[in-house]
Amino acid sequence: MPEFDGGDSSSEGILFGKYELGKLLGRGAFAKVYHGRNVHTGQSVAIKAVNKLKVLNGGFTAHVKREIDIMRRLRHPNVVRLFEVLATKTKIYFVMEFAKGGELFTKVSKGRFSENLSRRYFQQLITAVGYCHSRGIFHRDLKPENLLLDENFDLRVSDFGLGALTDQIRPDGLLHTLCGTPAYVAPEILAKKGYDGAKIDVWSCGIILYVLTAGFLPFNDSNLMAMYRKIYRGDFRCPKWTSPDLRRFLSRLLDTNPETRITVDEIHQDPWFRKGFHEEKIQFEDYSVSELYGDMNNAKCLNAFDLISFSLCFDSTGLINETEFSSDVERFLSAESPEKIIMTVAEVSKSENAAVEKNGWGAKVEGHDGGFIAVIEIFRLTEELVVVEIKNRVREIDQIWKEKLRPQLDCLIFQSE
Ligand code: AMP
Repeated sequence: MPEFDGGDSSSEGILFGKYELGKLLGRGAFAKVYHGRNVHTGQSVAIKAVNKLKVLNGGFTAHVKREIDIMRRLRHPNVVRLFEVLATKTKIYFVMEFAKGGELFTKVSKGRFSENLSRRYFQQLITAVGYCHSRGIFHRDLKPENLLLDENFDLRVSDFGLGALTDQIRPDGLLHTLCGTPAYVAPEILAKKGYDGAKIDVWSCGIILYVLTAGFLPFNDSNLMAMYRKIYRGDFRCPKWTSPDLRRFLSRLLDTNPETRITVDEIHQDPWFRKGFHEEKIQFEDYSVSELYGDMNNAKCLNAFDLISFSLCFDSTGLINETEFSSDVERFLSAESPEKIIMTVAEVSKSENAAVEKNGWGAKVEGHDGGFIAVIEIFRLTEELVVVEIKNRVREIDQIWKEKLRPQLDCLIFQSE
């Protein structure tokens, strides 16, 4: 059984009572990917475990949440689907479609592909990239490890949108020196200029196409600085077996100037690319941009990721001052109005002779003999939901609070479907 952060969300090796973790499929600099099995349906999944603090410690939670909401809605036959995002105290788990055929580059490492086979995979890559770009999602980190194959040996691009997360994780620009080869990085990133996610993805697609047809990298050198220089100058040569059409096409993809580099729309018009391309064959459940962004505030979209996002935000607000008392913090979601919540708190407190001091969306409940103090604060999360935070500052073990008052507030807790 692999080690994973069970925390309070797993029992007997079953993550969230739903996924049985299997063997380690691979690991990156910040994540481990495991095979998993949905114990209810038997479906195979891939589970990527990312250390939560590394993702969330920079105040990008709103951005990350937005990207994940969109990624969960991406549906394309050549994009690995993200089924759900779960979290424990220390980890975020991305539950994805399992790509049974392994990595595309395991195949290339056994020998370069013919132009026809390379074209087939490149066409699949570009339709996936174009689909995600049209929905505002850029990969930004396309590389061999992200090109997987399904059971029919069709391409599945993984980590769409997560590249943006890894940018967040590594804002110091050390991304590629940390991860190994920078061979897939566009020159404008090396130049540390502001860059456009779409153009970067096209550059990486150019490198991928070159590797498929040549069997080796276009820019390579054992000396990292020398490799950077080659990328920067666009210093590459095609092997002698490359057809004239492909040479011309590669020079458009690996154009060091992002302004003149070919775009995804132009790629679709290119004669080398178009050969045997039947766009109509690709059928997928489509979503309009408004559908993707439209229900962002819908309470039903809330998942474990949202919960950790906002709980971290609250921790940093400092809204509740620490006091000399030990404290127990509890947070729950409620669909009731703040006024109704405060009223309920006041009613149940009065019934136990506790004093209530209301203050806007908060209240302080004090035992008549000063035996306990509970501070209640309410924060709006969405139009329909609020977070209720209860800090119970116990001076001495107080049975009235624990056994009588607190259980009566359970009626306020939002039960999601
Ligand atoms: P990553 O951290 O995304 O680069 O993933 C590390 C390795 O895990 C990859 O190189 C793949 O071999 C494997 N892997 C990642 N995602 C999947 C998936 N959805 N299905 C199967 N294997 C995967």
